[in-house]
Amino acid sequence: MNEQTAQLRKWIEESDNIVFFGGAGVSTESNIPDFRSVDGLYNQQYDYPPETILSHTFFVRNPEEFYRFYKNKMLFPDAMPNGAHLKLAEWEQQGKLKAVITQNIDGLHQAAGSRNVYELHGSVHRNFCMKCGKFFSPEYIAAAEGIPHCDKCSGMIKPDVVLYEEGLDSDIISGAVAAIRNADILIIGGTSLAVYPAAGLIDYYRGNKLVLVNKSSTLRDNMADLVINGKIGEVFSQL
Ligand code: NAD
Ligand code: ZN
Repeated sequence: MNEQTAQLRKWIEESDNIVFFGGAGVSTESNIPDFRSVDGLYNQQYDYPPETILSHTFFVRNPEEFYRFYKNKMLFPDAMPNGAHLKLAEWEQQGKLKAVITQNIDGLHQAAGSRNVYELHGSVHRNFCMKCGKFFSPEYIAAAEGIPHCDKCSGMIKPDVVLYEEGLDSDIISGAVAAIRNADILIIGGTSLAVYPAAGLIDYYRGNKLVLVNKSSTLRDNMADLVINGKIGEVFSQL
């Protein structure tokens, strides 16, 4: 274990008010690609950039193409939690961690056993008919030919994920802000911190143990009290 990881381990041992803020890099070791790594979605060839396809306008105007991309690149039914998800769930159970705030939509924190999870960008596990509100599972979406439609009223189904151009849920934001504001340690992991308003939430932290765990450098390395460069699943497994 290197010096930085040992330091984090010590802080964690002493704390009962840890908050975690994460992004797509938390799930790459579960074989879900992120957006900005070299093998991430931004570096694969599509007719449109992912940000365009995953926008509200595109969903409304071209739902067929939206769902082609979404089913291929956003649904990973076989993905399992990795060492990072499992460690966070363990800390919560021990009463040490107060909240997980995630930009991910894959539900892997809950699959690992975490309970207090603020999903800033929603979840692929919830899907609703836009006409009558009926709920549908991700399996129903994956199995549908082309655009998924409601089996009750034939309305179009929309995943409960926050698309570009859409606002974040205000209750989720205020819960996340309160957790960050009161946190003793804020660990930020697996995120490029490039997507707003989500990335701006970390500015509510007031403590002196801001930890960044990321494979590459981020836009905020200079404001951290501790930076650990490595794969988060591997790093967390040592804690
Ligand atoms: P991003 O792709 O912009 O950045 C990911 C960051 O994680 C990069 O800095 C990368 O170096 C780092 N990283 C990758 N693998 C890592 C690992 N194993 N350990 C440590 N660091 C690692 O992701 P973002 O900042 O979350 O923003 C992208 C947006 O895409 C988010 O809004 C999110 O909703 C969405 N998204 C979600 C998923 C998912 O649910 N799993 C997947 C792709 C994208
Ligand atoms: Zn319906």
